[in-house]
Amino acid sequence: QWGVVRNELKKTLGTSHYTSWIEPLVFRDLKDGVCTFGVPTTFIGNYVSQNFADQIIYQLNRSGESVKRLAFDVANVAAAPSGIATVPSPALEERFTFDRFVVGKPNELAYAAAKRVAEGGPVSFNPLFLYGGVGLGKTHLMHAIAHELRQRQPELNVLYISAEKFMYEFVRAIRDNTMMDFKHLFRSVDVLMVDDVQFIAGKSSTQEEFFHTFNSLIDDQKQIIISGDRAPGEIKDLEDRIKSRLQCGLVVDLHPTDYELRLGILQSKLTSHQNTDPDVVVADGVLEFLAHRISTNVRVLEGALTRLFAFSSLVGREITLELAQDCLADILRISERKVTVEEIQRKVSEYYSIRLSDMIGPKRKRDYARPRQVAMWFCKQMTSRSLPEIGRRFGGRDHTTVIHGVRRIEDLRIKDSQLSDDLENLRRQLEE
Ligand code: ADP
Ligand code: MG
Repeated sequence: QWGVVRNELKKTLGTSHYTSWIEPLVFRDLKDGVCTFGVPTTFIGNYVSQNFADQIIYQLNRSGESVKRLAFDVANVAAAPSGIATVPSPALEERFTFDRFVVGKPNELAYAAAKRVAEGGPVSFNPLFLYGGVGLGKTHLMHAIAHELRQRQPELNVLYISAEKFMYEFVRAIRDNTMMDFKHLFRSVDVLMVDDVQFIAGKSSTQEEFFHTFNSLIDDQKQIIISGDRAPGEIKDLEDRIKSRLQCGLVVDLHPTDYELRLGILQSKLTSHQNTDPDVVVADGVLEFLAHRISTNVRVLEGALTRLFAFSSLVGREITLELAQDCLADILRISERKVTVEEIQRKVSEYYSIRLSDMIGPKRKRDYARPRQVAMWFCKQMTSRSLPEIGRRFGGRDHTTVIHGVRRIEDLRIKDSQLSDDLENLRRQLEE
């Protein structure tokens, strides 16, 4: 039956998983519910048993066999036919596509860079390094690149892996004595994506291996895409040589979402939800309220919306402002923990090493004016104070001065990467 089962598996797993993992299996025997396969390497055996065992058993049983578990036998098989040892990608999230990524000012650069890489063609920036805070779309963009590359160039061997999984595979390869396989597998991909690279910081042997993998792929002009939670230079306990490698391509960041982007994302989620559930009704002002009140993390935003949908379909009620307030009280409370104007002023002045009184006072020198504008910008972003109120707290300034300051920072943060890093660092400190 193995022949039939193999064909079924090819359909359900897709050709690339099939060729990498199922094809190398050689059926040995089936005794007492244990189905034994010969495999070319331990790595493949382990991988199959962890990732595909259930499906293989299921298909075998469907074909009339009675199988309880699988066994893999490495010694008994001839050398793997060449070309089979390709790396599998864990399933990509179906909905993480470019289509479903809402673009706004805070993420337009990252989007454009990802899109460019996904078009394939000559390697233009290598590596591409995407960074930003939690829930801002790094993983989404990486999966979107993988989806698009697979569609445009199915022959490419595209590997997406989290840094954590990379480490896990590495440690296991050492333990099982399969380093040769490991090296070969990772160095034979055409496109390598490693998500959340900060994870390997401080893990020296994994970093070492990562470094060599990285270099070998770059030498072969293979595209590499890496994500992290902050700029390469800012990742603690990451080796300098890796930092500098990561910086040598294109580094782009995903900024915290702003109100407009959040609203856009909510609208797009609502529209796609309405495709499956046309009955859902959302009262005017609800999306605006959520965009205003829920913090920059898109995952939290999505969670809120999902809960509202579920709740309203359960009780058969329109989603009104009151319902949202009731149903999301916990989420709203958390994002309500806003920093105060005083905290912002203190943190910003410490960050720029100037005296608080100078920052608030009348001095116009740039050394004071710029931090002052930064602080005003944060007050606008993170507190619910009105512009005149903010002005008042900054030594009785007029609200037009505040508007000017906020605009200036909005403008500069796109052009001035130093400033944008400063804002990012400060935001992190303020959110703690
Ligand atoms: P990160 O990897 O940066 O922590 P994710 O990529 O996992 O964040 O994104 C978190 C969630 O928010 C995902 O469900 C993702 O689809 C969604 N998301 C983030 N940014 C956007 C965006 N610009 N448009 C639509 N959905 C987004
Ligand atoms: Mg992620």
